[in-house]
Amino acid sequence: MAPDLPFKLNNPSLFHTEALINGNWVPSASKQTFEVQDPGTSNTWATAPDCTPADTDSAVQAAYAAFTTFRTVSPRTRAQCLLKWDSLIRANRDDLATIVTYETGKPLAESQAELDYALGFTWWFAGEAERIQGSVQVPAAPGRRVFTVKQPIGVAVALVPWNFPIAMILRKAGAALAAGCTMIVKPSPETPFSVLALGHLAMEAGFAPGVFSVLPTSLDGTPALSESLCRHPLVKKVTFTGSTRVGKLVAKICADGLKKCTLELGGNCPFLVFADADLEQAATALLALKWRHAGQACITANRVYVQKEVYGAFTEILAEKTRALVVGHGAEKTTTMGPVTTERSLDKAAAQVKDARELGGKVVMGGHSLYGQDKYPGFFFEPTIITGAKSSMLIAREETFAPVMALFQFDTEEECVKEANDTSMGLASYFFTKNVDRTWRLLENLEAGMIGMNTGNSSAAETPFGGIKESGYGKESGKDVAVNEYLITKTGTLTLS
Ligand code: NAD
Repeated sequence: MAPDLPFKLNNPSLFHTEALINGNWVPSASKQTFEVQDPGTSNTWATAPDCTPADTDSAVQAAYAAFTTFRTVSPRTRAQCLLKWDSLIRANRDDLATIVTYETGKPLAESQAELDYALGFTWWFAGEAERIQGSVQVPAAPGRRVFTVKQPIGVAVALVPWNFPIAMILRKAGAALAAGCTMIVKPSPETPFSVLALGHLAMEAGFAPGVFSVLPTSLDGTPALSESLCRHPLVKKVTFTGSTRVGKLVAKICADGLKKCTLELGGNCPFLVFADADLEQAATALLALKWRHAGQACITANRVYVQKEVYGAFTEILAEKTRALVVGHGAEKTTTMGPVTTERSLDKAAAQVKDARELGGKVVMGGHSLYGQDKYPGFFFEPTIITGAKSSMLIAREETFAPVMALFQFDTEEECVKEANDTSMGLASYFFTKNVDRTWRLLENLEAGMIGMNTGNSSAAETPFGGIKESGYGKESGKDVAVNEYLITKTGTLTLS
């Protein structure tokens, strides 16, 4: 029976509370379920199946059986299925966005923007399916020809975070299905329903049973299910997006089976503002980047470095614009900032603010959890700006993942680049300047996989996404590289008679 939801869907058939295995909606083998909370109210609003390692083999066997056929399906047919999936997701955009808002807390407009961004991936990878090509070479040895063919690697497992539950799946599944792989997704415990809804639409789009499966699990059940999926001998590829800590655990498990692995990990991204920058432009870009999903994006600006001459003026612009934010439940039309997604994020933010205060930082605005106040029954944290930030503070060493902005002051470009690179992470870096020479130097000298130059928005389906250092390895999205993560290259050598 469909649960009594706190919102109305135009297409109620999208909402599933069972796992998707082999094209069937099934309870978990244990028959256990777990509760999912609305971060905006802290109330439980639905329960999802708590899958365990007892569900792994049936899901992987079904994905493998589907793979033996799907790998031979023509690229054009795979592209057509992806385009059908794309059009169905597009048609159900607002319903999917509503589910995302109740799972993550983000304002409805942001959930809709996530859908629009995510649809770039289904569209892009449908095109990529037909552009997978091998090569023919005439080698030095006489009378020989050498060919390479690209083939799908096999069953892929996707372990994904809660912060962009639709976009993270479509970025992975788009590439995997374009390549001819089948995929099993283990969503985050916070966001099972949006991923199950994508599964519903994948079936409707005509993907055969087992091509796309979804196994939700609880927070407690996560390590065991993730490990059993990654260790299954028929799984040949693991794609993980999440924290660096868990990414390292997943990499070790994959190393045991020598499995190909993509890791999209933590950020701690620097954002540099030079005195010659257009301050209005820089502030608008920074606030859009930083306050999106209440600071819970891997590519958000974690450390903001502002040149001494404009530090005061820039802080004022940021504070004034931030005061205009309306904090509230994501489903309220007036809300421009929602809660953080989990209660544990509140504790981390509070600890970072306390540490910054103790080390001499000044809290210009905000600084407190609002959770529990009459108007704020959910996991709300005040939009917070801290000046006088220092590299010794927690806020500089760890990702914040909350609406807390730390402003560091710098004197010279050299000093700033040194501080910006003083982190084990290397996902994205941003800078604002009008100086062309400096633009080139920073592009070369900042240690990150993605560099935003006079922009805070550098991610799109057609551009490679991924980090360096402890932000992981492998690329998602972008021409050639992303689909390649799901392919093997086979070399054929022919002697001509
Ligand atoms: P997380 O590492 O806790 O979880 C990520 C995934 O791993 C989830 O599916 C989770 O259920 C699973 N998981 C958790 N513990 C596990 C364990 N012990 N063994 C196996 N699997 C486990 O991360 P999160 O809190 O969901 O997301 C926030 C993190 O993700 C941040 O560090 C953020 O920067 C990062 N992130 C990175 C990108 C990127 O593209 N680089 C994108 C989004 C988020």
